[in-house]
Amino acid sequence: MTITEPTTVSTALDRARAALRATLLEDRVLIDLGSPGLYGRTGVFEHVYAAVDTAAVRSMADLQSSVLRFPPVEPLAAFERTDYIASFPDLAASISAFTGDDRAHRALLAARERGERWESFLEPADLMLAPAVCHPVYGLVTGTIPQQGLWFDIVGDSFRREPSLDPMRLQAFHMHEFVHIGTPDSAKEHRDGRIPAMRSLLEGFGLEIDVVPANDPFFGRVGKILARNQVEASLKYEFVTPVYGDAGEATAISSANLHEDHFGTSFSITTADGETAHSACLAFGLERITIALFAAHGTDPASWPADVRRALAL
Ligand code: ATP
Ligand code: ZN
Repeated sequence: MTITEPTTVSTALDRARAALRATLLEDRVLIDLGSPGLYGRTGVFEHVYAAVDTAAVRSMADLQSSVLRFPPVEPLAAFERTDYIASFPDLAASISAFTGDDRAHRALLAARERGERWESFLEPADLMLAPAVCHPVYGLVTGTIPQQGLWFDIVGDSFRREPSLDPMRLQAFHMHEFVHIGTPDSAKEHRDGRIPAMRSLLEGFGLEIDVVPANDPFFGRVGKILARNQVEASLKYEFVTPVYGDAGEATAISSANLHEDHFGTSFSITTADGETAHSACLAFGLERITIALFAAHGTDPASWPADVRRALAL
């Protein structure tokens, strides 16, 4: 009995994911681009997505964060300093470009003609796809920060190489982050102090929310230790919602993450009293919240419960 159980659970989850994906595609919320976790988006998706983002921004308005926007790629040198490649090499992705001469181009075209993959003719271009939108900010504030600390509002593209048929797991997505850089106390306060407001915002959307310690997919054997440390030190919390009911674990649609001095050390950021700065991020997973709404309330927002529509100003 116990031996067959995992298969049964995973099949039920696979079926639940496939059903949601099929509904989103059939009802023209998302458009299949032919690669797992990569979708085009239609008007109804954008309508809800924009409402989610606006509500998220409104819930953080009192922070008076400085608005910053960055491109979807980051310089390799900046990426290096985040140490992302040590923890998540399997999620990282780089840009390559053709730098060869005519001869190399002919070889590329010949390979293409033979139906072979031709990307090996490209060279790494010192650019990484951004896996988290806050990365570039730390390099901008290297040095001493003001006494009261700094708050930033950053939204942008994230890319993580995790192809999946689960419509909640995209390769290209957006997170809206509210970042604080300050003292150990103010960073912790930023992370913890906003948790109730984030929770009630998401619950106001008619979503069932639990706040749980995060268990990030750190890579490899060392990763297991890092993951345990993350849980034991209570560094990161996730706002999870049971998109697939009892068929699988609830999915993280937002997070509240204390980095301690990780970025302060890597980017040489110090507080006014000369200590290494600490930082914390509140991240709204915009596509995940949007898709969780479609999963919970159906693909026609006009028929959603009145209080949900009100919370989203739809
Ligand atoms: P920080 O910037 O503080 O380091 P982070 O990089 O740990 O945060 P995550 O918590 O990993 O950020 O991601 C933020 C949110 O982005 C998640 O809560 C989730 O909602 C969303 N997200 C993460 N991965 C995916 C994915 N593959 N597809 C869609 N959304 C995702
Ligand atoms: Zn961040």
